[in-house]
Amino acid sequence: MQDAHGRKIDYVRLSVTDRCNLRCTYCMAEDMEFVPRRELLTFEEIEELTRHLVGRGVKRIRLTGGEPLVRKGIVDLVERLGNLRPLGLAEVTLTTNGTRLPELSQDLFAAGIRRINVSLDTLDPARFAQLTRRDEFARVLEGIEAARNAGLAVRINTVAMRGVNDQDLPALLAWCGERGFDLALIEAMPLGEVSIDRRSAHLPLSEVRATLERDFTLIPSAHRTGGPARYFDVAETGTRIGFITPLSDNFCAGCNRIRIAATGTVYGCLGHDQKVELRDVLRAAGPGEL
Ligand code: SAM
Ligand code: SF4
Repeated sequence: MQDAHGRKIDYVRLSVTDRCNLRCTYCMAEDMEFVPRRELLTFEEIEELTRHLVGRGVKRIRLTGGEPLVRKGIVDLVERLGNLRPLGLAEVTLTTNGTRLPELSQDLFAAGIRRINVSLDTLDPARFAQLTRRDEFARVLEGIEAARNAGLAVRINTVAMRGVNDQDLPALLAWCGERGFDLALIEAMPLGEVSIDRRSAHLPLSEVRATLERDFTLIPSAHRTGGPARYFDVAETGTRIGFITPLSDNFCAGCNRIRIAATGTVYGCLGHDQKVELRDVLRAAGPGEL
């Protein structure tokens, strides 16, 4: 797959549910209305769709949401997608809030997952509760530990926000370093109707980098994971820090991905509304016809 700008698309972010057990202030409103379950792609439909994508050169699938691990049977889906490896699928990964990792880590590893991203914006339990509107901090830490023990490589994802968690970032980097985790900092993107004031919370990551460099030596690295993060080696910890800067230094030219919502809607970009609906085609056409 190649888009009209000549960018090769070999990476798909696939949402398996719009539901979540947290309500991060920058992501969701407290009173979310979720789509009825019948509107979500079934596992059969996801597998069928993924087979077509892999047939067109997609190498990596990242399962996301909402919270992917609240979808019932998620480990079965990972196993099913793993069956597409002989067709050219190199990797299935996922991004999670970590709350269900205590019970699912081992099964996810057994189903073929090797790397996961876990979102964690602060190490302060009170601020975590404020940011996510739920009291799940201890479970997330337990989940991260469970993932590590199960053999999963963990990258921590942190949305950096001025006046919200900027003062927590040096401690987060040190904490990741002690555990051998890479850390990715993400600029908050203006998505959806949420309560946080994004204008005042916007924090260019160049500023964060300068602050971190007071305590850490950051050496530019050629490391890539197929995503938009630009990495630095952290000399003091032996781990890496990645900066994802959709606003201050956009990476559109090198974009390699599409997104598919849990309802089968395909988006070329998070920042645009252009979309293609595949669910009804999948359902009407029947297996093999998509
Ligand atoms: N629930 C899972 C989680 O939190 O990791 C997966 C879905 S979540 C939408 C995926 C990632 O997007 C998380 O790292 C989250 O912090 C980030 N995110 C959510 N809203 C965002 C926003 N407005 N700007 C930037 N990143 C955002
Ligand atoms: Fe849920 Fe992830 Fe959004 Fe937080 S960022 S509300 S955990 S989907």
